Amino acid sequence: MATAAPAIDSNVSRFVAQTHKMLINGKWVEAASGKTFATFNPATGEILANVAEGDREDINRAVQAARAAFETGPWSRISPAERGKLIWKLGDLIDKHLEEFAQLESLDNGKPLRVARAADVPLTVEHFHYYAGWATKIEGNTIPLTMQAANKYHAYTLREPVGVVGQIIPWNFPLLMAAWKLGPALATGCTVVLKPAEQTPLSALRLGELIQEAGFPDGVVNIVPGYGETAGAALAAHPDVDKVAFTGSTEVGKLIVQAATGNLKKVSLELGGKSPNLVLEDADIEAAISGAASAIFFNHGQCCCAGSRLFVEKKIFDKVVDGIARSAEKIRVREGFDPESDMGPLVSEEQLNRVCGYLESGIKEGAKPVTGGERLGNKGYFVKPTVLVNTNEKMKVEREEIFGPVVAAIPFSDPNEIVARANDSVYGLAAGIWTRDLKKAHTLAAKLRAGTVWINCYNVFDAALPFGGYKQSGWGREMGHEVLEQYTEVKSVCAAL
Ligand code: ADP
Repeated sequence: MATAAPAIDSNVSRFVAQTHKMLINGKWVEAASGKTFATFNPATGEILANVAEGDREDINRAVQAARAAFETGPWSRISPAERGKLIWKLGDLIDKHLEEFAQLESLDNGKPLRVARAADVPLTVEHFHYYAGWATKIEGNTIPLTMQAANKYHAYTLREPVGVVGQIIPWNFPLLMAAWKLGPALATGCTVVLKPAEQTPLSALRLGELIQEAGFPDGVVNIVPGYGETAGAALAAHPDVDKVAFTGSTEVGKLIVQAATGNLKKVSLELGGKSPNLVLEDADIEAAISGAASAIFFNHGQCCCAGSRLFVEKKIFDKVVDGIARSAEKIRVREGFDPESDMGPLVSEEQLNRVCGYLESGIKEGAKPVTGGERLGNKGYFVKPTVLVNTNEKMKVEREEIFGPVVAAIPFSDPNEIVARANDSVYGLAAGIWTRDLKKAHTLAAKLRAGTVWINCYNVFDAALPFGGYKQSGWGREMGHEVLEQYTEVKSVCAAL
């Protein structure tokens, strides 16, 4: 495996070398317990940084700060225009430090530096800019009452911030997921306690510095790194948190729902997937091959919407599978800082074991890897991009979310049965359709039980386009104006005239 000498930005190496504190009420503080935890470089398995380990007491302090900022601090009196300007400025500051964030993301998560430069960071900037615009456009309605004489009552709705929000995010797009959560919360005037994933806390901590530099009042955004079972669970259960927004596994999503019952806080969830990607025989085959390959291999398959069940019409099955296998073999799996890296290591040893465990179980049950099927090398957490055939719907590799670069290619011969097969999953996050036939494309799109359907494309994200899941892929939508509903309460005001 070739490894080029990494050119780490001096700001990044200085930042990484610190013992990282947490951001509570505008101050960088140690954990109440004094404990720290390590985050690892997935390319080498070595310790990358030490970070304050938040737990229940830190969450209590952060929630208290967020509550005070929401109720009585300057944030509670700020104009929507000022709020919007702060959010825009935060976007600009991230843009100014694009290279630094891309490097942090690559070091902590393992993804190729050039992917972080081209995708994670610019999308984050765009996200904050998009929600900056919404801060001045959150409106209620005037409502003519239906059962009363006109002019007897004046009734209207106010759309108000939901309050103190707990946000728990995953490690696959650490900075971007923070933006998905923070953008709408700040636009609507909420205050936040954000818990980054324990595998990848660094970019959120650097973001905390820029939040201060942008001029957000103390306590509006508090950032508490720590483990899920401790800090995350305390945040989800906290009686003074009004809403929890979570992105992660369906399994943990269910725990969040249970934890939220204490004070019946609002819950939004963006969870797992096992997304079907359908290639019909009239598709542009070359486009479908490259699209289906990137649907599963982008971000090493560590995407909740990864196109991991690839249904291909029988007549073209061999050709498509062969094309995807060839694409997989061309992927240069190297550490993220290698300028030629197309795919880095998986994020953690746990994730490596999980993905390899699925590969072993699938192969034992009769699945055949056309390419890949195993770990790559013995240092770091690299896995070979894998295309499996001979799977069936009873196998775990076809049913469960692997969250790695592994696609099950499944032939189908009856187009009438494909909708039922594609929908035969507990998940419903995304789906893809490859065809030249417009009628088929839109008819299928309407029938697929998924929050996003891509036609002749995949993984196209935009701040304006809602994203979220049917079934066990989640509750509510992120992005667009849809997400604003998750961060606001509607108040009806009715006055007798
Ligand atoms: P993965 O299994 O891919 O690591 P998780 O769903 O476990 O994904 O993690 C997503 C986020 O949820 C992380 O920030 C993690 O710390 C947090 N988390 C994990 N377990 C819990 C829990 N019991 N309560 C609250 N948050 C949790």
